[in-house]
Amino acid sequence: MLADKDRIFTNLYGFQDWGLKAAQQRGDWDNTKALLERGADAVIEEIKASGLRGRGGAGFPTGLKWSFMPKESRDGRPSFLVINADESEPGSCKDREILRHDPHKLVEGALVAGFAMRARAAYIYIRGEYIREAETLQKAIDEAYAAGFIGKNACKSGYDFDVFMHRGAGAYICGEETAMIESLEGKKGQPRLKPPFPAGAGLYGCPTTVNNVESIAVAPTILRRGASWFSSFGRENNKGTKLFQISGHVEKPCVVEEAMSIPFEELIEKHCGGIRGGWDNLLAVIPGGSSVPLVPAEQIRNAPMDFDGLKELGSGLGTAAVIVMDKSTDIVRAISRLSYFYKHESCGQCTPCREGTGWMWRMMERLRTGDAAIEEIDMLQEVTRQVEGHTICALGDAAAWPIQGLIRHFRPELERRINEHNAQFQEAAE
Ligand code: NAD
Ligand code: SF4
Repeated sequence: MLADKDRIFTNLYGFQDWGLKAAQQRGDWDNTKALLERGADAVIEEIKASGLRGRGGAGFPTGLKWSFMPKESRDGRPSFLVINADESEPGSCKDREILRHDPHKLVEGALVAGFAMRARAAYIYIRGEYIREAETLQKAIDEAYAAGFIGKNACKSGYDFDVFMHRGAGAYICGEETAMIESLEGKKGQPRLKPPFPAGAGLYGCPTTVNNVESIAVAPTILRRGASWFSSFGRENNKGTKLFQISGHVEKPCVVEEAMSIPFEELIEKHCGGIRGGWDNLLAVIPGGSSVPLVPAEQIRNAPMDFDGLKELGSGLGTAAVIVMDKSTDIVRAISRLSYFYKHESCGQCTPCREGTGWMWRMMERLRTGDAAIEEIDMLQEVTRQVEGHTICALGDAAAWPIQGLIRHFRPELERRINEHNAQFQEAAE
């Protein structure tokens, strides 16, 4: 279990004040100027050496991403940092806690990350529904300006850096990085084709890096305590501490910072008081937010909670939003509900996603009631294959994967429903 002294988010539960004075007492903004004096390249190298991988779901190496940004301005164009606080993945609520209780870690992180990538400003795009969080964040930004930590000559470093907050309006798809950029530009939030990646052509056509809240908020602590401290947690390729959000059928749902690669059972026993009704009552777990396939009870118990461990089980760490389902769960209904979510949130731009998400949801509903033919299970599987990998953004994959996981692990349950429904139908006809 991670020791308290190794926790980055020391005010995760809001026991202390989030404001500047209290944040400084916790170590935030402590001689930030000295961090900047190391130079942009040194900051990037330290983040690279720490092994930090993006905390928004995809796990792309953060230092490497920063290094894609140009060192010199091209044609006088500025560079930008965009911070993705549009946390909307079902099950994910970790960035909300940072915004509520530790916003100065994010604002300071914006400064050091922006400095490392030679950005002129950071735009924090916050989920529209996070109304109180937006108020808190804006106050933290104002406090940082008033203290001279950001703005002109930030922290007396000679570097000018602005931080702007922008509120979303309720569309899940605006959490996709290029849709977010479109939205910031005042357009309809629809993803762009990649490449070009944002580092080549991002906000207003300028070099841009989009990073998740947690990825940015941990950066100052990594720089202060050192890359080797951060990389001493977890295992090869899966380093550091991580915020896990555990919801569903555990005794005590929570958000907790733990060492990467902690075994699932330890995570649940130490922080959540165990599974509701005991381990024999566990049915399945979605370990990384709704976009990753579920893992059945018998496979998850000893699994290391990290990128590689969950990939080996055919799932993923995603945002580390762990959704626990016990045997009272109607698993087909649960996945069908997720299908409805993706159908509803599809931006409609590409045909496999626009049409496919509707098809998948309707077929899932038929399987839920059992009003289907056995062959339709394979037909649904085929539809998910036609959607996966054939769309502009990852929403198509995200809609397909939970269904694939259901068919892989719960085919007998799907067949049982169909057979039961058909038997009832036949009985009524006789
Ligand atoms: P991605 O793998 O396409 O990209 C990840 C990041 O790496 C992006 O910033 C991308 O620009 C960068 N990148 C990848 N390859 C690159 C290259 N060759 N050169 C330069 N940069 C490169 O994934 P994505 O579509 O950004 O994210 C998908 C993930 O988002 C899913 O795994 C899901 O878990 C997660 N997600 C999170 C939320 C949330 O609320 N936090 C919501 C929806 C989805
Ligand atoms: Fe829009 Fe779906 Fe295509 Fe993404 S995959 S661009 S959400 S239609």
